[in-house]
Formats: sequence, structure tokens, C-alpha cells
Amino acid sequence: MNSPIRAAVKPYPFYVRSADGPYLRTVEGEELIDYVLGYGPLILGHRHPQVRKAVEEQLEKDWLYGTPYELEIELAKKIISHYPSIDMIRFVNSGTEATMAAIRLARGYTGRKKIIKFDGCYHGAHDAVLVKAGSAVSHYGLPGSAGVPEEVSKLTLVVPFNDVETVEKVAKENQDDLAAIIVEPVMGNAGVILPKEGFLKELRRIADETGAVLIFDEVITGYRLGIGGAQVRFNVVPDLTTLGKIIGGGFPVGALGGKREIMEKLTPTGPVFNAGTFNAHPVTMAAGLATIKELERGYVYEIANKAAESIVKVLEQEAVSKFGGVVNSIASMFQWFPKAEKVENYADAQKADKNLSLRLHEELLKRGVFIAPSMFEAWFTSAAHTKDVVERTIEAITEALKVL
Ligand code: PMP
Repeated sequence: MNSPIRAAVKPYPFYVRSADGPYLRTVEGEELIDYVLGYGPLILGHRHPQVRKAVEEQLEKDWLYGTPYELEIELAKKIISHYPSIDMIRFVNSGTEATMAAIRLARGYTGRKKIIKFDGCYHGAHDAVLVKAGSAVSHYGLPGSAGVPEEVSKLTLVVPFNDVETVEKVAKENQDDLAAIIVEPVMGNAGVILPKEGFLKELRRIADETGAVLIFDEVITGYRLGIGGAQVRFNVVPDLTTLGKIIGGGFPVGALGGKREIMEKLTPTGPVFNAGTFNAHPVTMAAGLATIKELERGYVYEIANKAAESIVKVLEQEAVSKFGGVVNSIASMFQWFPKAEKVENYADAQKADKNLSLRLHEELLKRGVFIAPSMFEAWFTSAAHTKDVVERTIEAITEALKVL
């Protein structure tokens, strides 16, 4: 396997041969209802006909130019029209590349070195952000990563999510050298953790007061919480935004966008280097544009959010009432934190019973439902999670809970 969380399915990972709509089909011919959805990108479900059509049309024309072309501009314009923070955008190949470039850009723009990140937020697999990270880093209980020099890690200041006082204190103490505050506006890599009322606005204020660049990492939340992501939903405009997952329609992608004044510091107009052989890959741009056009029709959010709402209700009625805990949810993403009283930051999440969460994954898998094998991920729903699919899922949840 090629990404660590995939090995967390025990006793060994199942292998998939094909997928369609809400279903994964394993090599043994088993059909699984998928709530992982490629860890977030597939908000339309697997193999959506419009995405497939756009990709086939692009393949007809060729799949790599190494020059500018029209489709990348079309997708760029679309995203710029949806995201208030984005005047200019650069497409890269993963969320990792996006946050790596965004942090370098913030450093280049401010001439400062340090960044603030939040405990349990995951921003990809590069040195600056592998400090108290979520996702598979938490699942495997790692503090960060071996191989990251201490000299690099110490430039990353980690503070608790939803704690304005600590952010403000650390930001002001390091003001002269603080390049950026990077945050997942809704945490999606430590389960799902929502910002408290006003928290994101306070981050905006602290960034303004200290001259740090505010980066919203919307790799998960972008187009998932709605067309304009978290920034529109919570009405807070960051300086830079990173995107990924959904904007590539299931193909490798990342993007960073933001204020013109900052974005112009990127090469070739500025001195902060970014480049990529596969940046703005034609097949990805075709799939991303087709996906976003479907999202603009509205039905996707209606179905996906309704599916999430129904499952959340059942988890609250059946799982929480039997074992305690809380279900945190927004739009089409959610997570149950067994036995936790409230989960407002990563420390709270760690108090939940992650083994019980893992047991639910195991018992659901036996009943044809695939959720992430870690409490430090989210359940995702899609336009393919229609009423009958959700009803079958609810039956499986009810049965699984009986044996937990
Ligand atoms: N940022 C966030 C918020 C993410 O959830 C992820 C991946 N789950 C990344 C960055 C990294 O993206 P990628 O895996 O495409 O490198």
C-alpha cells in the first residue's frame, strides 16, 4: 500500500477492483457502501458520468501540454468567482504541495520565519507542518515525523484549536518573526471539530494585528461546506487559501490562491519559487471543472447533507445513548467521538474512546459499510448517498451497535 492510513484496516486491507456511485467493489466481489470517498474528494460519488465524460473529452485532445491552455483558466475563473479571498490562483498536484507553497509564500512575503499551526490539524506530509499533526500521524500515535530537523520544527508553534487567548499570546510574543497562521477552519483530520462562534474572526484580527498571513487550509472544507467553503459559511476572508481534493474531481490536485499583492510574489512575477511539471494537469482540470459545475446545480449538497443528517441522527440516538460521546457534524462531514463529553480541540478528541470507534469500523465493514479505520478522520457523504443507501447504512449501524 502507498499511504499509511490504508494499512489501518485490520487484519489486512481489502483490495478494490472497481467502484461506482456509493459503492466500492472488492476483488472478492463484495460491495461496500463507501463513507471514505477517497478521503474526501468524491462529493459526487464514484465514477460520476459528467466527470467521466469531461475526462474522456480531454483524453481525446491529449493529456499533457506543458503550456498554458484554456481549461485551466476556466477552472481558475470559476474558483475565483466562488472564493472571496482568491484574486489569483496557482494549481499544483496535492494538498501537501499547496500548503508547502502557501507557507513559503507567506515567509517570502513577510520576510519572517515562524508559523502558528493548531494541534491536530493536518496540512500534508511536508516538514513545516509535521508537528503535532492529525490524520494518519495521530492514528499511528506519532508526535510528528522522524527526519524533520529540529531546526525546522521549532519554527512551527503549535497552539490548541478554539483557544483565542493562547493564539493571541503566542502570536504577540513572536510577532516580529511570525509569517503565518495556518488553520483548517473546520478540523477534519482529528475527527470533525467545529470552530467556536467568533473563533475564525478572532484569528483574522490577530493576523491583522501582528502582520501575519492568515492561511485557511480548505483542502477538505473547500466545496464541501458549500460552494464557497468555510470562508463563505463563516464569513471570514483569509489572506491565502489552500484547496485540493474536490477541485480535482478525484484526480491528483492542490491549489493555493489569495490576495493579488501576495500571489504576485510567486514566480514568475515574484521571487518565491513554485513550479511543477504536472501543475494544472489537463485531465485534473477537466474533472475538477465538471465536478464544480455539478455542485453549482445545488442537488449534490441537498442529497449529501441530508444523508449526513440522517446518519448523525441515528448515531446520536443509538450510539451516543448506548456509549455516550458526541457527534460533531457540519454539511456532509461528521464523526462520533465515543465517551467524550465535548470535543472542541485535539486534546478533547484524544479523550474519546478511539478503540470503540475502530470497533464500529470493523463491525460496519462486516455488514457492507466502509468508514475510515480511524477516529481521526471523518465520515463523508456524497450525491450518491441516496435515501435507500442511507437506510441500508442505518440498518448496518443498528446491527453493529448491538455487538459492540
Ligand atoms: N490539508 C488538509 C486539510 C488535508 O485534509 C490534507 C489531506 N487529507 C492535506 C492538506 C494534504 O493533501 P494531500 O493528501 O493531497 O497531499
